[in-house]
Amino acid sequence: MQNTAECVVIGGGVVGSAIAYGLAKRGVKPVVLDEGDNAIRSSRVNFGLVWLHSKGDGMPAYGFWTRRSADIWQQFSDELKDETGVSTHYVKSGGLNYCLSEAEFETRSETIRRMREQAEKDPYEARIIDRAELMQLMPRAQLGYEVLGASYGPHDGTCSPLFLLHALHAGLKKHGADYRPNSPALTVKPVAGRFEVHTASGVISTPKVVLAAGHGNMPLEKSLGFDVEIIAERGQILVSERVAPMGILPANGVRQTAEGTLLIGTTNEEVGYDVSTTPKASAAMVQRAVRVFPAIAGVRIVRTWAGLRTLTKDECPVYEESERYPGAFIATCHSGVTLAAVHANDLAAAIHQGKLGPDIEPFHGRRLI
Ligand SMILES: Cc1cc2nc3c(=O)[nH]c(=O)nc-3n(C[C@H](O)[C@H](O)[C@H](O)COP(=O)(O)OP(=O)(O)OC[C@H]3O[C@@H](n4cnc5c(N)ncnc54)[C@H](O)[C@@H]3O)c2cc1C
Repeated sequence: MQNTAECVVIGGGVVGSAIAYGLAKRGVKPVVLDEGDNAIRSSRVNFGLVWLHSKGDGMPAYGFWTRRSADIWQQFSDELKDETGVSTHYVKSGGLNYCLSEAEFETRSETIRRMREQAEKDPYEARIIDRAELMQLMPRAQLGYEVLGASYGPHDGTCSPLFLLHALHAGLKKHGADYRPNSPALTVKPVAGRFEVHTASGVISTPKVVLAAGHGNMPLEKSLGFDVEIIAERGQILVSERVAPMGILPANGVRQTAEGTLLIGTTNEEVGYDVSTTPKASAAMVQRAVRVFPAIAGVRIVRTWAGLRTLTKDECPVYEESERYPGAFIATCHSGVTLAAVHANDLAAAIHQGKLGPDIEPFHGRRLI
């Protein structure tokens, strides 16, 4: 099948889908190629945090970019709901990072202080709160005696990552994008100022291609002049049976979903592409969650899984247009859920215009060489 398209987005995870949705809203009709169930798909295994307060340590531009996303997430979510009928379950509740010892309290305080100093204008507005303030914030929660306090980020929130992906797929199709599941891009070749994207069912010729396939970028990127290393980091998560609303704010170790289940996580493990779960990690995560909320000790865990983060060397996003082959773009990041709003808006607009402007320039991969 010989085919042409205004634009081809390779990857239908949350990053590629948010960009494709944003392009489609701007009148482009991209073809979105997505691999099947065998692919690594971080978008379907994550914790669903829309999280600002620990982002950008060492790279303030990432803090501002994330704040921009947090600021427009509600509008983005409302728009998706209006257009597709699918709710992302987004709630901007504020978020916590618990401190269970003096040492943890000091380390968190130092991190927050350092991040505020690095950014000329503080995008986080995160602060350290003590146990008394924590109890005021969550009057119904029964905190364990070891909880000394937490860092608190007022712009943090949560969504359902699966509903987000579902809404993006529905939204991009509604705006005329052509989503093709089980259609991996096999190779991409620059040919006479255009690109030929080879698939099992034919070649698509396009003047613009966006590589947003997570770990799947690496086999394709060199032919487009990119050299972005993506590192796999395993994260394990547990989910419990449904329990009555606990009146707790989300934290990066435990949160309650809209359905009532508790999500407990996550690990940070460098084990290559191994997505096994381990009893040792499950036990450690549950023990810490129980130290924060002793009342959950009897709650049953119903499932556990592991996924792979898509990390760059400094854990910040990379967005680039190829210098050798203009018209080819690459987008990869950790925190694709958090950044979905800014990807669908600012990044999609920049790719549409064919110019990644000053807000996006700091994310060029040359900083990692
Ligand atoms: C345990 C864990 C917890 C996390 N928690 C959070 C969180 O709370 N908040 C947050 O913001 N982020 C979180 N993340 C990170 C987030 O999940 C990722 O940043 C995001 O999913 C990356 O999306 P992606 O689209 O780049 O990659 P993926 O989701 O991996 O999608 C890549 C897509 O590309 C497709 N693909 C691959 N190769 C090809 C090819 N050749 N042709 C066509 N398609 C191809 C795949 O099928 C896949 O659908 C977490 C990640 C993990 C692992």
